[in-house]
Amino acid sequence: MKHLSFLLMTLSFLVLSPSYKCNVKGEAGAMLPIRGLAIEAPKPESLDRFLYFIEEDLAPAHFNVLILRVDWNYAYQSHPELCDPNPLKQEDVKQIVALCREHGIRLVPQINLLGHQSWAETTHALLREYPQFDENPSVKTEDYTPWPNPERLYCKSYCPLHPEVHDVVFAVVDEVCDAFEADAFHAGMDEVFYLGEEECPRCHDKDKADLFAGEVTLIRNHLAEKGRQLMIWGDRLIDGRTTGIGEWEASYNDTWPAIDRIPKDVFICDWHYERADLTAVYFALKGFQVATCGYRNPDVCLQQIDDQQRFRAQSSPETAARFQGYIHTIWSGADHFLKRYYELKDGKQPGESKAGEAEGNGDEEEDRSGDVRSLLAVINAFTQQP
Ligand SMILES: [Zn+2]
Repeated sequence: MKHLSFLLMTLSFLVLSPSYKCNVKGEAGAMLPIRGLAIEAPKPESLDRFLYFIEEDLAPAHFNVLILRVDWNYAYQSHPELCDPNPLKQEDVKQIVALCREHGIRLVPQINLLGHQSWAETTHALLREYPQFDENPSVKTEDYTPWPNPERLYCKSYCPLHPEVHDVVFAVVDEVCDAFEADAFHAGMDEVFYLGEEECPRCHDKDKADLFAGEVTLIRNHLAEKGRQLMIWGDRLIDGRTTGIGEWEASYNDTWPAIDRIPKDVFICDWHYERADLTAVYFALKGFQVATCGYRNPDVCLQQIDDQQRFRAQSSPETAARFQGYIHTIWSGADHFLKRYYELKDGKQPGESKAGEAEGNGDEEEDRSGDVRSLLAVINAFTQQP
């Protein structure tokens, strides 16, 4: 009996001990496979500060994925008409590539495809140069009024069934992937509100989930020809009404059944900014690799990192492997953000200027330093990972 009591005591100690749990599960507390940041690519004049940020802040904190929103900030040779004024040149990009390679950081360039082809009154380069690709040209960005507006204009979309749109889009996708020497590409595809519109002669009678799934699959197949992986934001694949997650972080416009109509090797970036919704589980159980993405609430971001570790610890090996980690997002312009980041890190109050703020839901005023404080919290969490 003495031996049995000792055995029971030992067992109860082992079961209650956190370190034992780590050893048994093998994952709780272990480093997540993906520790990422998604941010706008820098302007050429701020490249040095951006390289410093990679070297001094991201690399020491064990970041290993950097998603860069390039869009039209690259000197595309295939379509120079789409380039921003003074875009990044190939030699600029090669500096980022070399530094990321040195530190084991996987670079993933992003161009917003399908949606996000405009912002407020501004039509972005693709539809500015190729207005025939516009899904609903009767809605004019020049007439934009703040959301909610009668036309439900948030961002413009291109028509996924236009016979010429992919010739243009895939040329720049290939070029940006070549320049960044990337084995993955992020196509955005979030918050697509205009899809299958009544006025589009090609799409008006089509199922919206089919349209969305068709575009995802087409892009995925194009990338796969060169061994590249497609990453997208996950919101259009979540049923916004049933989940109560709403029409931004999830879909009200009937795109969500597409989750069962796209290839399983599409990587899902599952973003939730105000609350740590548990939808990563949904994607993982559907067979997708998924990373949770946070933004400007430090408590939510830390909860999301913790959740990914917990999901990995509590799942079967097959499912656990699909919880790939955490990707932090920054939605200010990169140059403006880094200025505020170093101000706060150096103990000063970050500047309150609105200049440089990029796309968002229009409520950034709530907490101007939340994005900086969140990144500092995430860097601290990643630094402390074993
Ligand atoms: Zn169309």
